[in-house]
Amino acid sequence: MDKIPSFQKNHDVLPVGLHAQTDQNGITTFDLRFKKPNGGDYVSPKALHTIEHLLATVLRNSAEKENIVYFGPMGCRTGFYLLTLRLSYDEVLALLKKCIPQAIALEEIPGSKREECGNYLEHDLNDAKRELKNYLNILENL
Ligand SMILES: [Zn+2]
Repeated sequence: MDKIPSFQKNHDVLPVGLHAQTDQNGITTFDLRFKKPNGGDYVSPKALHTIEHLLATVLRNSAEKENIVYFGPMGCRTGFYLLTLRLSYDEVLALLKKCIPQAIALEEIPGSKREECGNYLEHDLNDAKRELKNYLNILENL
């Protein structure tokens, strides 16, 4: 089998931040890298899950909602993928700087009732907010 593009990057030199790659269909995959790959520090499974709920909700309610294809966590727990259409790197960077504070301001986790989520007990709002603040700081220093 072919090695897929995301496995062809040398993860040991991949910095935290925001990385973009556009495919032949015009979909851009943004790599929201919260943690240094293989750095020994990873987003906890609970915070990862909560951030998925928070940011997916805020992004899909934003002015750019028509251009959001997908948002979800990386299995390695070092970040998230955001798939977009028709948005430049700078537009996505600005969108994240606007949406992350809105996610941090949420007082409850959207979609976290038993009937709305596949693992409704696996959440940690405070840890999710801590990780989001840390990532926002990374974005502000790019
Ligand atoms: Zn869930």
